[in-house]
Amino acid sequence: MQTDYDVIIIGGGPAGSSAATILGESNHKVLLLEREKFPRYHIGESLIPFTFGPLERLGLIPEMRKSQFVKKYSVSFVQPDGKRSQPFYFFNRYDKETVAQTWQVKRSEFDQMMLNHARAHGVEVREQSSVSRLLHEGERVVGVEVISPEGEKYEVRAKITLDASGKEAFASKQQGWRVNDPYLNKIAIWTYYKGSKRGTGIDEGTTTIAFVPDKGWFWHIPMHDDMISVGLVAEGKYLTRDGVKDPKAMFEREIGQNQWIKEHLSSGECTGEFWVTSEYSRHSRYCAGPGLLLLGDAFAFLDPVFSSGVMLALKSGVLAGEEIHRGLLEGDLAPERFTEYGATMRQGVENMRKLVYAFYDPAFSFKDVVMRYPEAADQITDCLSGDLNRDYSQLWEWISEFAALPDVLPYGTPLQESIAQPV
Ligand SMILES: Cc1cc2nc3c(=O)[nH]c(=O)nc-3n(C[C@H](O)[C@H](O)[C@H](O)COP(=O)(O)OP(=O)(O)OC[C@H]3O[C@@H](n4cnc5c(N)ncnc54)[C@H](O)[C@@H]3O)c2cc1C
Repeated sequence: MQTDYDVIIIGGGPAGSSAATILGESNHKVLLLEREKFPRYHIGESLIPFTFGPLERLGLIPEMRKSQFVKKYSVSFVQPDGKRSQPFYFFNRYDKETVAQTWQVKRSEFDQMMLNHARAHGVEVREQSSVSRLLHEGERVVGVEVISPEGEKYEVRAKITLDASGKEAFASKQQGWRVNDPYLNKIAIWTYYKGSKRGTGIDEGTTTIAFVPDKGWFWHIPMHDDMISVGLVAEGKYLTRDGVKDPKAMFEREIGQNQWIKEHLSSGECTGEFWVTSEYSRHSRYCAGPGLLLLGDAFAFLDPVFSSGVMLALKSGVLAGEEIHRGLLEGDLAPERFTEYGATMRQGVENMRKLVYAFYDPAFSFKDVVMRYPEAADQITDCLSGDLNRDYSQLWEWISEFAALPDVLPYGTPLQESIAQPV
């Protein structure tokens, strides 16, 4: 078995597979290590318009168009009394044939497609292979220790290791770089319904955000095979009020708090399984260190209210892949080469994070901002659609009249001098 590579990638989600494809395309020797056997379940099903760019760069648009994934043209918001806003159609602002049409994806199928795509570009993929340790030579990461499907440990080495392990953030945990967001500490509970009500025609794939009291909300995401992904996000103390502890009981109680959700789910059948996470919004202090680069959720994981995660993961994979390709050609993979990568990803996450903070502020509504500043509408749309690498300082000035916005967090730069030893 080969043990020396140009690049090792930990994790075969959207971030890992996209970086792998870009590097494989240029014939670099790439090993991708994935703990699970694909297809595997994953949450994160609703894409946003600006996912189009990375998918196009990866050459995946034709496959997406051929797929069964439900086309998503809009988002709408529903008040607890069931009053629904007009769907907001992306084609009112973007080209209908490209950016304005996105998808609701079943992640087991989407991620399998992406991993197959990486394989087709010459990447060696080892599934059921869990990375257990980063290998260091001094301060430099020189590879990883892997546990094989048979449970045996072995080592592989590379010029650079990419951590794309998702929100478990394997490397930043080991390096002691992980930082929690001070405020975004919600709980999400979700499940699936078959046969429940959805829109028709171009409204079939609308994402609906349905509010419950105390700034809690449901997502309602129509997928193929007549399945609906439905999730609830709120503060723990709201969900557990009156001593309720069971996730299913919390979920069912909140269905009654929103008339639209109640009506739409009533004709369907719950598949019975409930998923819970309380791990919300974390990031790594550094994006890179000697021999190491972080991608996707492993770099920064943000509250998913605006469905930005997969777009950011794909974008980080593409940007990282392209920078590493240049670095391999030039024989220079020093951490400082990833300064721009870190700044770009960080600017995107920070812009989205401000909107997330505003969303959870009790005094805030997008409608109020737009009523006072009609020019804000297009900027809000652009930011929510994922056009994140722009200067939105005017928008933040307007929004800060309605909601407290967070300070910029100190993260994103590469660690240049020394790397913390594993903790
Ligand atoms: C409740 C919730 C709802 C969400 N909804 C949305 C949404 O609607 N739209 C959206 O865009 N995003 C959403 N997200 C976010 C989305 O799930 C992530 O942003 C996205 O999956 C990140 O991709 P990734 O490639 O960085 O990581 P992942 O997709 O998590 O992939 C990481 C991979 O690494 C593997 N791995 C982990 N550790 C190891 C190891 N030690 N060795 C080998 N392999 C390893 C895992 O098995 C996994 O396959 C949601 C997230 C949550 C929690």
